[in-house]
Amino acid sequence: MNTKVVKIEREKINDQILLEAARMIREGRLIAFPTETVYGLGANALDPEAAKKIYAAKGRPSDNPLIAHIAGPEDLPPLVAKIPDTAKRLMDAFWPGPLTIIFPKSNNVPYETTGGLDTVAVRSPKDCIAQRLIQLAGVPIAAPSANTSGRPSPTLAEHVYQDMNGKIDMILDGGAVGIGVESTIIDVSGSVPILLRPGAVTLEMLEETIGDVELDQAVLGPVSQGQKPKAPGMKYRHYAPRAELILVEEEGTVSDKVITIIKELTEEKSRQGAKVGIICTDETVSQYTQGVIRSLGSRMREETIAHNLFAVLREFDELEVDYIFSESFPESHLGQAIRNRLTKAAGYHVIEVGENK
Ligand code: AMP
Ligand code: MG
Repeated sequence: MNTKVVKIEREKINDQILLEAARMIREGRLIAFPTETVYGLGANALDPEAAKKIYAAKGRPSDNPLIAHIAGPEDLPPLVAKIPDTAKRLMDAFWPGPLTIIFPKSNNVPYETTGGLDTVAVRSPKDCIAQRLIQLAGVPIAAPSANTSGRPSPTLAEHVYQDMNGKIDMILDGGAVGIGVESTIIDVSGSVPILLRPGAVTLEMLEETIGDVELDQAVLGPVSQGQKPKAPGMKYRHYAPRAELILVEEEGTVSDKVITIIKELTEEKSRQGAKVGIICTDETVSQYTQGVIRSLGSRMREETIAHNLFAVLREFDELEVDYIFSESFPESHLGQAIRNRLTKAAGYHVIEVGENK
């Protein structure tokens, strides 16, 4: 298949191109497009055959459900069996935006889209290209991240091209995405809302809007074999770079001891002939001298860290490093999403630098 890459200028959206893309979506074909979180791989969410093509292109296990993207709350009723009050408040506060809400599904939504579940995940993206595409398509668009399953999510059209060239019909290139980590996912179907995946709509922001929110087990740590997390995707090793990634932290953040350990590990592995990457921040970057050193930005601006994270993991793939030693980030606000992605990418390999070590 020939994958057409088309540049879209955000300031001057060309409806001609988006009309063609929208028509292709209605025909059951696959289009990658930017959203404010990461690039999505879109298909008609109501068409079981189209949904199956997404799983094939990504190499995604068929029990890992897709998120249906709609223009706004007005498009929601046909997809869901019920809209809880909590969901209404969340939609008022955060839609359009990086928040995915889980609803009991209606019969219109095929099980191919929901990975066999009786619930459906829905989000209204804010990105103007995504919004326009959904409006023109006139159908909800199922769109997981547009990466090969298991690779870091794409934050540039080039990343999508690396993974999807020859497998999908079109890539709409809207440049770099804004946020850089996937949407927050919340389940409000039970008596207490449960956060299934942290993102740019933070736990603190959610609790301010709807009161107490519980953290799903899969957010807190690894999912053991046989355990069924609420968000099926969380049991798969996600966001994985090719190298062995190890997080080093002291009380959830960086310290002089952490820097020393990362330098020692880099020295040791380099001596053994391995190529080592280091993920650090503007505040610490000057302290490292050995290995391929990448700063994610300043700790004062977690938005920048989130924005750069997946691109740096992909860069390390290209550079074919064998090990990546990464600093860690405190588990609050956007840091919770950053740390969640990093620990998952590391397969939960975290070195805790204690006082006695
Ligand atoms: P992605 O779009 O690639 O970020 O993946 C979508 C994520 O949403 C996966 O981790 C899924 O497990 C999760 N998800 C989608 N639909 C549901 C659902 N009905 N219930 C729980 N989690 C879901
Ligand atoms: Mg994904």
